[in-house]
Amino acid sequence: MDFRLNDEQELLVKGISELMARENWESYFAECDANSRYPERFVKELADLGIDSLLLPEEYDGFNAGAVAVAAAWEELGRLGAPTYVLYQLTGFNTILKYGTEEQIKKIMALHGTGKQMWNSAITEPGAGSDVGSLQTTYVRKDGKVYLNGHKTFITSSAYVPYLVVMSKDAETGTKYTEWFVDMSKPGIKKEKLTKLGLKMDSCCEIYFDNVELEEKDMFGTEGNGFNRVKEEFDFERFLVACCNYGTAFCAFEDAAKYANQREQFGQKIGRYQLIQEKFCNMSIKLTNMRNMIYETAWKYDNGQRITGNAAMCKYYCANAAFEVVDDAMQVLGGYGVAGDHRICRFWRDLRVDRVSGGTDEMQILTAGREALKKYR
Ligand SMILES: Cc1cc2nc3c(=O)[nH]c(=O)nc-3n(C[C@H](O)[C@H](O)[C@H](O)COP(=O)(O)OP(=O)(O)OC[C@H]3O[C@@H](n4cnc5c(N)ncnc54)[C@H](O)[C@@H]3O)c2cc1C
Repeated sequence: MDFRLNDEQELLVKGISELMARENWESYFAECDANSRYPERFVKELADLGIDSLLLPEEYDGFNAGAVAVAAAWEELGRLGAPTYVLYQLTGFNTILKYGTEEQIKKIMALHGTGKQMWNSAITEPGAGSDVGSLQTTYVRKDGKVYLNGHKTFITSSAYVPYLVVMSKDAETGTKYTEWFVDMSKPGIKKEKLTKLGLKMDSCCEIYFDNVELEEKDMFGTEGNGFNRVKEEFDFERFLVACCNYGTAFCAFEDAAKYANQREQFGQKIGRYQLIQEKFCNMSIKLTNMRNMIYETAWKYDNGQRITGNAAMCKYYCANAAFEVVDDAMQVLGGYGVAGDHRICRFWRDLRVDRVSGGTDEMQILTAGREALKKYR
């Protein structure tokens, strides 16, 4: 496998570096983080650069650029301190094109290029976390309409997205897990914002559906196929979380390396002390491992290979390794890492959340373990 970037990928990375150098984005990110605000102005600038078209097919003016290009873009954005976790939804355009009706596609594609939040999946419930099959939200048909009832929790972006794709089951049979494309302005929907440790630039809510009236045309995909649809998404989503984690760790590492080469104590740069060098050795090993795992997974994806085991390993390993790198980098920064307003505090909080959201560490271990054993059955 050759992980060198081609000319187009190099150009993409160069465009990102230039955009990141254009202004002091860190003060904007810090302000958005402090106020739990979506960095829409930044995402719009990325959209202008074509980031939200990276995976789109050519007939939608997309670049069909593949996962390696995404990895390269996320790596550079993360390295330069950008909160790539707010970009998960950009890959959502492809999902809508694959499963949406013409009307649903039109509604979502109208938001393409705007930087605005668009939709997200609502699966988790208070009693149904890792065990998503135990969800209780139901749909029932009555007089030619469909009625949705239930309670979702921890739903990312849900404070501001105009649409949610909501997983439910048939109220009469208790089976047929089916998704509905729900316009969030409909009567009967109540939202309650949750506070989070990290990933604060994107919202997270509890959502209540009380007899929300839908129509047959609001079904997302086909009846009973809800879980197969989301399972298909999990692999790429996990890969993307790993890309975010790695980029963030890379940024913390560079901040710490510059600091270690400049900060003097006991008459020497602290980078001259072997205890500090040991940290840089360990951080470098973890960054190299993360990068290799991510690019290998991206390469497999782009070459049509199954990535279920790789994606689970990536998410599990990168969420933990990135957290350790950021923690070591924080130690190198001494008091400046834990007091004041250094961005590393934000990274540390964000990474801790990623070991739970998008599927916990434990669920990744179970998936990766099963996939590893499968080959030897
Ligand atoms: C910030 C954030 C954003 C999120 N965004 C979304 C979203 O947009 N849409 C959505 O649908 N969901 C979302 N989620 C939900 C997320 O996917 C769940 O929180 C996650 O799957 C875990 O569910 P839980 O919190 O109920 O924990 P539980 O499933 O109750 O797990 C509690 C603990 O037990 C462990 N555990 C559970 N079962 C097993 C087992 N069989 N073996 C070993 N250990 C086990 C878990 O790993 C965990 O450590 C989000 C969560 C967070 C925190």
